[in-house]
Amino acid sequence: TQTKTDQKDIIFRSKLPDIYIPKHLPLHSYCGENISQFSSRPCLINGSNDRVYTYAEVEITSRKVAAGLHKHGIKQTETIMLLLPNCPEFVFAFLGASYIGAVSTTANPFFTSSEIIKQAKASKTKLIITVSTTVPKLKDFSQENHVKIMCIDDKIDGCLHFSSDLENSDETTLPDVEIRPDDVVALPYSSGTTGLPKGVMLTHKGLVTSVAQQVDGDNANLYMHHEDVVMCTLPLFHIYSMNSILLCGLRVGAAILLMHKFEIVTFLELIQRYKVTIGPFVPPIVLAIAKSNVVDQYDLSTVRTVMSGAAPLGSELEDAVRAKFPNAKLGQGYGMTEAGPVLAMCLAFAKEPFEIKSGACGTVVRNSEMKIIDTETGASLPRNQSGEICIRGDQIMKGYLNDPEATERTIDKEGWLHTGDIGYIDDDDELFIVDRLKELIKYKGFQVAPPELEALLVPHPNVSDAAVVSMKDEGAGEVPVAFVVRSNGSTTTEDEIKQFVSKQVIFYKRINRVFGVDSIPKSPSGKIVRKDLRAKLAARFLNG
Ligand code: AMP
Repeated sequence: TQTKTDQKDIIFRSKLPDIYIPKHLPLHSYCGENISQFSSRPCLINGSNDRVYTYAEVEITSRKVAAGLHKHGIKQTETIMLLLPNCPEFVFAFLGASYIGAVSTTANPFFTSSEIIKQAKASKTKLIITVSTTVPKLKDFSQENHVKIMCIDDKIDGCLHFSSDLENSDETTLPDVEIRPDDVVALPYSSGTTGLPKGVMLTHKGLVTSVAQQVDGDNANLYMHHEDVVMCTLPLFHIYSMNSILLCGLRVGAAILLMHKFEIVTFLELIQRYKVTIGPFVPPIVLAIAKSNVVDQYDLSTVRTVMSGAAPLGSELEDAVRAKFPNAKLGQGYGMTEAGPVLAMCLAFAKEPFEIKSGACGTVVRNSEMKIIDTETGASLPRNQSGEICIRGDQIMKGYLNDPEATERTIDKEGWLHTGDIGYIDDDDELFIVDRLKELIKYKGFQVAPPELEALLVPHPNVSDAAVVSMKDEGAGEVPVAFVVRSNGSTTTEDEIKQFVSKQVIFYKRINRVFGVDSIPKSPSGKIVRKDLRAKLAARFLNG
């Protein structure tokens, strides 16, 4: 409805009016702005042991942790790494770092040693907060690079300990820092439209804007309130969970139910026990619910919102899961780490809901502009025509850490962030994603960057060249597969090549299939022509 046509661009905006956003506030102040209204209400519920932390407790503990980080030498603008599963300590450390103007970079605790070290070095991490089982992966690195390790569970020689060294600090020693809206607060890693994983600089202003776009205002896009119980089974180290579950939940005063690890029976049991009302999921979790034969034994009637994001949700799956949540509205959100991350949200979740269509992944968020461009000419396209989705607004990243070229490739001079996703906007302002232009592979919503796997394959003594593309998979959505050129005369097997990579990467980056080829198609500038390989893959399966 609110399409504006100027000389150059056809711009799409939300159907909801813009709102006031307090962009001057640091993220922790913004999230805690209304805390006096719900200070004695539950804020975090640890699903592993049923321990409940009220809003007042979370605030005081985060301030103590902030003082402790300061005492251990973490200064404003310096980075700590949260290498943790979902747990209260993640929240205390993230908010604590925000209080002192420090940055949290987040990573998967199941990463291999080399994956963690790459990110820790690139982000100049000063302190890694993790669990004891991960410490052996970090010992040598921490000694050689003077990076401190802090454990949240066991006390380990040579490591700091979360409760003794942070939680018991004196919050009155918190330093007085001036935090500017453009200061970075979160540094998740993402490969974006091309290349290796890069640090995505999300600022206080950016995250405040993104959270406000979802939950603030009279008619919030993602209507949540202080009596809601939000299921947090998606990993907080991914920006979807950190933003749309944790930060949005804190802002509205909801109870956030932390699940350490997704397991279907525990998950259903927790929904029933804590009367969960909001379920932010990803397609593989939706699939697990749809396929579970025990789901009917649980009462899921309290759930009023089921949101899926991070990867495409098929319409059959949508129907199957709708039947399991009798009282829920079901819809999708569309995010990308670099976009802060939410670009579009299903308006069936709004306080005054709109009718939505199956398969849509929402309508562009408020206080923001979206356009769809022709991938060849860059011209903006009208409704119902597919092209690359671009977004502009205060919520998008400041840029990639120490990578101005990659930043320029992603955010153009007019401030448009180019997503690498192909989609169209229909007559009712609903966005449909139809394809992905970028090379990114998404395994159960987790990112796999083909160049990272190619860089591991090429050093193999019997491989002279390699390329990695995605292949559709029922359980995971997509899996990485490799095309390899074997060195002269080599008889290296598929299994041997797969093993070689598996040893170096987290489980979801493992190569699913290896196909031998004579050469890898390359453009004149030497770039792998992935679409030719995807076509080869499609032909191979069509021909059996
Ligand atoms: P990440 O930065 O890890 O959140 O990955 C972002 C990418 O995930 C997007 O650019 C899309 O390709 C994909 N994605 C996110 N949400 C959706 C959705 N609802 N439908 C289809 N793809 C999605």
